[in-house]
Amino acid sequence: MRYIYDLTMEELQTTLMPLNAPKFRAGQIFTALHQGGPVVEISNVPKDMRTWLAENFNCDLPEIITEQVSRDGTKKYLLAYRHRDDQGQTGDAQPDLIECVLLNQNYGNTLCVSTQVGCRMGCRFCASGKNGLVRNLTAGEILAEVLLINRLNTTPAARGVTNIVLMGSGEPLDNYDNVMKFLRLVTAPTGINISARNISLSTSGLVPQIKKFADENMQVNLCISMHAPNDELRQQIMPVAKRYTIRELVDAAKYYFEKTHRRVIFEYSLMMKDGVPFNCAVNQARELANLVRGFPAHINLINLNPLHFDSNAVLTPPSREIAMAFMDAVIKSGVSCTMRKNKGDDIDGACGQLRLRHMEQN
Ligand code: SF4
Repeated sequence: MRYIYDLTMEELQTTLMPLNAPKFRAGQIFTALHQGGPVVEISNVPKDMRTWLAENFNCDLPEIITEQVSRDGTKKYLLAYRHRDDQGQTGDAQPDLIECVLLNQNYGNTLCVSTQVGCRMGCRFCASGKNGLVRNLTAGEILAEVLLINRLNTTPAARGVTNIVLMGSGEPLDNYDNVMKFLRLVTAPTGINISARNISLSTSGLVPQIKKFADENMQVNLCISMHAPNDELRQQIMPVAKRYTIRELVDAAKYYFEKTHRRVIFEYSLMMKDGVPFNCAVNQARELANLVRGFPAHINLINLNPLHFDSNAVLTPPSREIAMAFMDAVIKSGVSCTMRKNKGDDIDGACGQLRLRHMEQN
């Protein structure tokens, strides 16, 4: 059974043809669906049409398994979708679990969404990739994360989603077609209508897909997980670095800027290994700055969440002094750089932690 939230307005129009529905019905249904209410309650559409949709499509939003609320107001949700195999068939298998995180910021509410169940990229500091990829989410399933959180957070005290980051479990560009369709759905003027400039897509660095994404010219912010200033170090923590060099990655980032005129953000988690700087020494800050200087790029430093780990060694965050010295050295080398404030670190705030913990306990 098809998932109703996968449908674009044009696809809805085609779907309604056997019912001889006037064209405007598709628009009414599309808008109402994106407001997140149940299909059977779309009041401006005839009852028999609502019933037909409910009987012929899967109209369920994901189920909430767990909700955690941090001291700073960050909310983390563990969500379940029915399992589907590669042919799209559902069965009795365990549900597919994903996470999303709602962060309150002074400029709005940012929802960090997942794009895949699990992830095949295997970054050593990430819990999401620990058990590999289970499956891609469809465009509608990614959208439904936003719709569900909007439904839960639209009181005057809790605003709905205004910004989106594709930074939850999964490599968005490894699920390219579904993610592109999601971006078109979520920015549709007759739907939630979130501006592309309020959306950030984070990639581990799939070079060909970054260039293809640039050619879509969507005005979405591109974030690249860099985490090391050279290939040798990056290969130790990100298997994708064995496929594409840092030079190729930076060239793809420049191409993205040339096509979209959007400043590219390089994410860089500061890590200590066995008590000494792994990627956060001052000379590594200069090496990093040298790589990205010369085009509008920004380095976003992240103090490694203490719950991150790899299998051989504990990676820990550096002291504030080491972190500030790193940031200073990047700025003095002529590159824009800021430190991201950790949010939700009193809950399972790091990507994949909540899902992994749930899977280990059940
Ligand atoms: S950091 Fe992102 S790309 Fe890497 S394993 Fe985790 S979810 Fe996948």
